[in-house]
Amino acid sequence: MVDLSQMAEPFKIKMVEPIKIRTRAEREKAIAEAGYNTFLLKSEDVWIDLLTDSGTAAMSDYQWAGMMLGDEAYAGSKNFYFLCDVVKDIMGYKYLVPTHQGRGAEHILSRYYIREGDHVPGNMYFTTTRLHQEMAGATFHDVIIDEAHNPSKEHPFKGNVDIAKLEKLVSEVGEDKIPYITVGAPVNMAGGQPVSMANMKEVAGFCRKRNIKVVLDAARVLENCYFIQQREDGYKDKNIKEICQELCSYTDACTMSAKKDAYVNIGGWLAMNDEDFFIEAKKQVVVYEGLHTYGGMAGRDMEAVARGFKEATENDEIVSWRVRQVEYLGNGLMQADIPIVRPVGGHAVFVDAKAFFPNLPQDQFPAQQLAAQIYIESGVRTMERGIVSAGRDPATGEHRIPKLELVRITIPRRVYTNSHMDVVVEGIKNLWKRRNDVKGLKMVFEPESLRFFQARFEQM
Ligand SMILES: *Cc1c(COP(=O)(O)O)cnc(C)c1O
Repeated sequence: MVDLSQMAEPFKIKMVEPIKIRTRAEREKAIAEAGYNTFLLKSEDVWIDLLTDSGTAAMSDYQWAGMMLGDEAYAGSKNFYFLCDVVKDIMGYKYLVPTHQGRGAEHILSRYYIREGDHVPGNMYFTTTRLHQEMAGATFHDVIIDEAHNPSKEHPFKGNVDIAKLEKLVSEVGEDKIPYITVGAPVNMAGGQPVSMANMKEVAGFCRKRNIKVVLDAARVLENCYFIQQREDGYKDKNIKEICQELCSYTDACTMSAKKDAYVNIGGWLAMNDEDFFIEAKKQVVVYEGLHTYGGMAGRDMEAVARGFKEATENDEIVSWRVRQVEYLGNGLMQADIPIVRPVGGHAVFVDAKAFFPNLPQDQFPAQQLAAQIYIESGVRTMERGIVSAGRDPATGEHRIPKLELVRITIPRRVYTNSHMDVVVEGIKNLWKRRNDVKGLKMVFEPESLRFFQARFEQM
């Protein structure tokens, strides 16, 4: 029998925002003007916006009520102390430094730990994370398991760190050249794939013996914890909060983009157990973000962050529904035989653009083109996660050629219903029928770093 409680959203809607669909001719004009880059579209030209789940969540009434309780003192806001208590309770870290968003935390972390010539391993790269590591003088090394680079390979914890790869790196460069490892849980660029508790424990065991710090990229940590609860032996009867406490206990610090699993529109933090790092991070945050008791956030922002994160760990239905909506979209696409990354991850469905356009070579930007064509077909905005996002190798100046050439269909938290997901599936099905008529793109404007945000293209 169907479990009724699992069939519908665990919330009802109190306020709505009208959205409009443009005609196909208007969409063709809009995307051409945007240089075939969905980041450059105006939001008003988008019908269903699945560009990102970052900062796009709908907040709860509890969070909105908290916004009215903002203590906008320059120093020592009560909302800051509440945020510290909430994060300590859920993650266990002793100290917290607020930042305007995740990359603010990455910046301070990288500056503190990295010396010129260091090496930083991670379970696949993330764009801003790797850039901050490189800007601080380090070389990034991908130590994710091989399965993560194969879109059709099923694995319950495709985000896991490959300890053998880590060991190899240590033997090549020496442990004193590796200040820390970043463990993204789950791994955004691999398709939202989770890391298992067992793997995290093993990473911690390996690193602690060698004085390598373990840093958690916690942007979607609650979604990772949900996967552990569903898939890993021994966690079925634990709630997301208990799982999160254990996961964080294997790490020394975290960087957090609150724009993801704290269900807010802006915010972040850096948290750690090491007191020296805390003292130094507080010195840095006042230079780059704001005073160490607001870090670029208003008091009301910190209250919304604290309430959003607290709520999501007090009612497992919030995260569970969110992940199951992603799965709903994934199932719809799989039933239509659209090639997607399997299994479906926690925040997005990733379409395999190489399989969608097998005739387009990777330097004609198949994923960039696929995202543009999905918009033309349906008014749905998605984003490229392939060769454009990977950027150029700073040493050789050549394109980095990632194995994965993907389009990310990212679902904002609590914003769209499953009817919107049905539209996405229908639109991509229509595009699939005309896929052989689609040609490649050429890049006509290329920023030096994080080029995917502002690069421009033309049809070949
Ligand atoms: C979003 C994100 C970041 C960066 O956070 P911002 O809030 O966008 O600065 C870092 N790591 C991962 C995995 C992310 O998804």
